[in-house]
Amino acid sequence: MFRKKIFSMISIIALASILLVGCNSGEDETSEVEELQVTTSFSVIADIVEQVAGERANVDYVVPIGEEPHEHEPVPSDFQKVTDSDVFFVNGLGLEEWLESLMDNVTDTPVVELSEGIDTIKLADGETDDPHAWLNPNNVNMFVDNILDELIEIDPDGEDVYRENADNYKQELAELDEMIQEKVEQVPEENRLIVLSEDAFIYFGAAYGLETEGIWELNAHEEGTPQQIARVVDLLGERDIPYVFLESTINPVHMETVSSDSGVPIYDMTIFTDAVAEDGGDASSYIGMMEHNVEAITSALSE
Ligand SMILES: [Zn+2]
Repeated sequence: MFRKKIFSMISIIALASILLVGCNSGEDETSEVEELQVTTSFSVIADIVEQVAGERANVDYVVPIGEEPHEHEPVPSDFQKVTDSDVFFVNGLGLEEWLESLMDNVTDTPVVELSEGIDTIKLADGETDDPHAWLNPNNVNMFVDNILDELIEIDPDGEDVYRENADNYKQELAELDEMIQEKVEQVPEENRLIVLSEDAFIYFGAAYGLETEGIWELNAHEEGTPQQIARVVDLLGERDIPYVFLESTINPVHMETVSSDSGVPIYDMTIFTDAVAEDGGDASSYIGMMEHNVEAITSALSE
């Protein structure tokens, strides 16, 4: 009996030692920093957050790539993802129409609107903000500042890293801005009109001197009615532009009708507005998708 007890105690001590050794070696293998869990509403801002957070955060998003972020039906795994996060970054300006129904099922996760502080542009009603602020890279500087402030607040130890990442990324945004100005200057003035299913490039157009038109104004109001299609076809009859465009997140049938009714072809490079590309290629980052868009738009409209 006595011997058995000692044996048990030795076993327990041995087991505890193994566990301790196990824990220690585990800590040595991983970095000393515990990763932040960050969730964003959609893929475009997930990439922007990743650029600032670097390796200090694991960044995920709610709306799957290929779907547009205006309308989304939150599912239980979305609630869980956001609940388990240190912060939830959203675009704001009414983009995420599903935000309230998601947050009704989430406790204690702070929500930060990245568009806070930008100069907004109104939709045709003169009251509602156009949510597509990220499509002007100059606005993304403000997104970066808002990300930076929040990350420093929840992870002060990472401040130096975050500031350096943010400075580097702003430099890339400045280079992108310069590239867009140069490319747009090469497009004949009478061709500076972007026609898409959703009129998402209003901020971009205002910044770089292009007109924009959509079959509809916002994907949340997507209809593609005969009247909406006829309006764009009429416009194309008045304006002699070489191509119209199609977005990655949108059913092509409406723009195909516009194209066949107007005789203006759809350019063969897809435009990325409300999601990055899924393929892991060049357009799978924000800057990559903007470079792709600008290449597509300026090449098409210069023909
Ligand atoms: Zn949109």
